[in-house]
Amino acid sequence: MASTTDLKIDFTTFYNVINNELKSTPTTRTATNPSTLEPLPPVPVSTQADVDAAVAAAAAAFPAWSKTPVEERVALINKFADGIQENFNEFTGLLAAEGKPPQAAGFEVQFTIMHLKGTTTLRLEEEVVEENDEKIVKVRYTPLGVGVGIIPWNFPMLLGAGKLGPALLAGNTFIWKPSPYTPNTALKLGELAAKIFPPGVVQVLSGEEDLGPMFTSHPDVRKISFTGSTATGKKVMAACASTLKRVTLELGGNDAAIVCDDVDLDKVVPKVALTAFNNGGQVCVDIKRLFVHENIYDAFLAKLVETVKSFKWGGSDDTEGAFFPPVQNSMQFEKVKSLFAAIEKEEWKPATGGVVEASEAGGSKKGYYFQPTIIDNPPEQSRIVQEEPFGPILPILKWSGSEEEVIRRANNTDMGLGASVWSNDLERAERMARQLEAGTVWINNHQDLSPLVPFGGHKFSGMGHDWGLVGLKGWCNLQTLSRPKAV
Ligand code: NAD
Repeated sequence: MASTTDLKIDFTTFYNVINNELKSTPTTRTATNPSTLEPLPPVPVSTQADVDAAVAAAAAAFPAWSKTPVEERVALINKFADGIQENFNEFTGLLAAEGKPPQAAGFEVQFTIMHLKGTTTLRLEEEVVEENDEKIVKVRYTPLGVGVGIIPWNFPMLLGAGKLGPALLAGNTFIWKPSPYTPNTALKLGELAAKIFPPGVVQVLSGEEDLGPMFTSHPDVRKISFTGSTATGKKVMAACASTLKRVTLELGGNDAAIVCDDVDLDKVVPKVALTAFNNGGQVCVDIKRLFVHENIYDAFLAKLVETVKSFKWGGSDDTEGAFFPPVQNSMQFEKVKSLFAAIEKEEWKPATGGVVEASEAGGSKKGYYFQPTIIDNPPEQSRIVQEEPFGPILPILKWSGSEEEVIRRANNTDMGLGASVWSNDLERAERMARQLEAGTVWINNHQDLSPLVPFGGHKFSGMGHDWGLVGLKGWCNLQTLSRPKAV
């Protein structure tokens, strides 16, 4: 077994990792650094033959891996996390080139390591569900087989590792399919994994947009854990139906935050501002609809504008402590640009921002930058309230009157990922939180995530959960074992 000093990897050339071998493909493609618009190093374009080879290797590795004692599996997952630490600066630099300033990239790498290590503290125990003089009935959890993680571009390392850890811990083999916009860090994680895990246990394949469907339709894949948009999630579920694959869907959000009039603005505004603009609005659980009570609305908005204006934005070569990134790719840039174009057309009132800074749109900056923008009390039916922007533009909405009314407005969406209530009266906040239709509701916080806590959405925000014991069970078949007490 390799010692940690053998875990250094080379970050110059990029390969698929199939059965612990580094494989190139006849065709390659490049992703783009969204702050410089320069291409990243070329990566493989996988074909059906590559997918078949990886799935066959994963299926062959499954019997031995699933029988490997859990403590051995845990040791290898922890070693994988140590290997990321060993290559910390290289991963941070590459992740920065995939779309965020080094300070934010370093934070994601650190969180990835913590997440993997945290996951390994979870254990699935057998449960006795019925016992009498005649019999004992237990529920146990057995791994599914070949699992595939389909990953979006906003947290290319963290969201993949958040599937890999539980999949392997439960005894499955795992294939990682990165987004075509951010394949480079994932391929290097695959290379690192090849130094640690037996062949076929962890594999990573990059490709074009046709690669996901090759996995969702593959007869020997037992589970797809998907994170991405609601539109794609529906396609994934439909594609998995004919082979009855297990499916977990972590989809889009349109998180409401309800701020009551008794809060301390100095404490609350900085937290709200950060969790609305974190990763430039490109977090599934960024605050996307901010309801503020009319008694404090003007003071809250003034402080929010001041806070957001103080945020530093930057790209992969930033050295000045920026934390907020450009929009990650051209597709998302066009979507967000159309919302900025609607500002004038729809007569929305920007309290700050409203400007596209990217040179492609006539602005002064090379990358996909927008000025962080707050829209002051737009109509409830407007696109900026109804849609998930996934960019640095936030609607702030006034509320007054009853709790029921603002709860109704917060719930008036197909989405139900996260939500929060902010109040100094914790009883009241909890009473309101319990009525919100969302997978996670925070009080006086937002976006507080942990590998020990289940994460998933209501309504169109998803099905099933990642993380926590519930997430781990999602990587298993449940078996009821009924045994008589005597023959
Ligand atoms: P996306 O749906 O476009 O792509 C996600 C992944 O699916 C990519 O790897 C893509 O290549 C793949 N894919 C595309 N078409 C496919 C198909 N037909 N079959 C199988 N795979 C396919 O999403 P995105 O633009 O990468 O990510 C942004 C979205 O993800 C936002 O809506 C955001 O809210 C959501 N998201 C959700 C969570 C969560 O945990 N709920 C976390 C992060 C992002």
